[in-house]
Amino acid sequence: TVRVRIAPSPTGNLHIGTARTAVFNWLFARHHGGQFILRIEDTDLERSRPEYTENIFQGLRWLGLTWDEGPFFQTKRLEMYKSAVQTLFDKKLAYRCYTTPEELEALREAQKARNEAPRYDNRHRNLTPEQEAAYKAEGRNFVIRFKIDDDREIVWNDLVREKMVWRGSDLGGDMVIARAAADGIGVPLYNFAVVVDDIDMQITHVIRGEDHIANTAKQILLYEAFGAKMPEFAHTPLILNQEGRKLSKRDGVTSIFDFKQMGFIAQAMVNYMTLLGWSAPDSTQEIFTLEEAAKLFSFERVNKAGAKFDWAKLDWINSQYLHNMSVDKLTDLLIPFWEEAGYPLTQGRDRAWLEELVVLIGPSLTRLVDAVAMSKLFFVETVEFSDEATAQLKQEGSVATLNSVIAALENHQLTQASAQEIIKKVVKEQNVKKGVVMKALRAGLTGDLHGPDLIQSWLLLNQIGLDKPRLIEAV
Ligand code: GLU
Repeated sequence: TVRVRIAPSPTGNLHIGTARTAVFNWLFARHHGGQFILRIEDTDLERSRPEYTENIFQGLRWLGLTWDEGPFFQTKRLEMYKSAVQTLFDKKLAYRCYTTPEELEALREAQKARNEAPRYDNRHRNLTPEQEAAYKAEGRNFVIRFKIDDDREIVWNDLVREKMVWRGSDLGGDMVIARAAADGIGVPLYNFAVVVDDIDMQITHVIRGEDHIANTAKQILLYEAFGAKMPEFAHTPLILNQEGRKLSKRDGVTSIFDFKQMGFIAQAMVNYMTLLGWSAPDSTQEIFTLEEAAKLFSFERVNKAGAKFDWAKLDWINSQYLHNMSVDKLTDLLIPFWEEAGYPLTQGRDRAWLEELVVLIGPSLTRLVDAVAMSKLFFVETVEFSDEATAQLKQEGSVATLNSVIAALENHQLTQASAQEIIKKVVKEQNVKKGVVMKALRAGLTGDLHGPDLIQSWLLLNQIGLDKPRLIEAV
């Protein structure tokens, strides 16, 4: 059975790249009825933080990417890595390297001078016990290295990138698998711990970003060293910004929750992320739930080329979800945005009123946050008049028209019919065109000449007693 995992390091919030990797893993697992496992790679004690772990959990839950096993924490599995290091020592495939940082630096400088790529020259591969003892006596620190033969050929058939061929000499010399620790075995590094875990957790498919390709070449040698069954590898294309560079913090999005704050909903986010490098067999189909996408998902339709992050597409997908959502649900989602904006949900702005407001503005929303600007006029006591609206109110007849509306407005609740009645009456009284009354009304009630349906807006303002004072203010 298929077993996949995501293995985020809690050194930052859950970001879009990891989330998209999670989406692909989740889809693949669901497609095959397999398991999706969550493992927190927290061995970097200096940079790992519990709040990032929490953010990763919350982000995955928000997106609906539920995991079947875990979370596992690497820091709770240190014993396993230690015995794995011991296995490699026993097989003579690993050794302690006492080269100092200064010596490594000198080596790099020399290689640079010769225009060579930096690599460790394996100088401590075959130390005698006496040499080791001497280095120890000097008080040198060590790292543990795994032997990589330069002439090794490493070949795998990547599920996305097809045949991949690497040479041992591409990998920078014998690789460090653990750093020194008092017990003489050390703290495992990523490339090592990840293989030990993936073997232990019986991962069948390693699906991750293409920035890990060189790691895969190294990791394959470790699988061989342990005599373990090799998983399949799938390297997904990077997410690129508008300039074609890897999407990064500088593009203004770090945490997946940044998108939430910008007013994207979870279903739209996961829907969009499935399309970042993948397309459905019927490529015109772009809206689907995770479950629907899982039915269709395969690596055959994952691109090799980087996936450009397309804000317009994300906006479009988000608007599709918002426009097809029940009023009830949309109201629930918008309330936090109104609260965040400090809008009062009082003085008649009850649930029924809010839902009417949602009916009015819902069809114009692209992002939830749009509702803040769009509905401001319904939450503030007095509106600011745009230049256009001010000009409109200064026009011949506007003030008289509005005065006539004010006079006609009784204190009882306005209805569609009674609002239309008032307009008709004013048209007659003032002997003006209906368009003039409507324009003056819109300017007076909303402070603008553009906006949602005027009569509906008026009714909403009337329900909270704001229409009359606002018209009085305008004249
Ligand atoms: N901890 C690694 C990362 O966050 C995991 C990569 C992998 O999936 O192996 O990039």
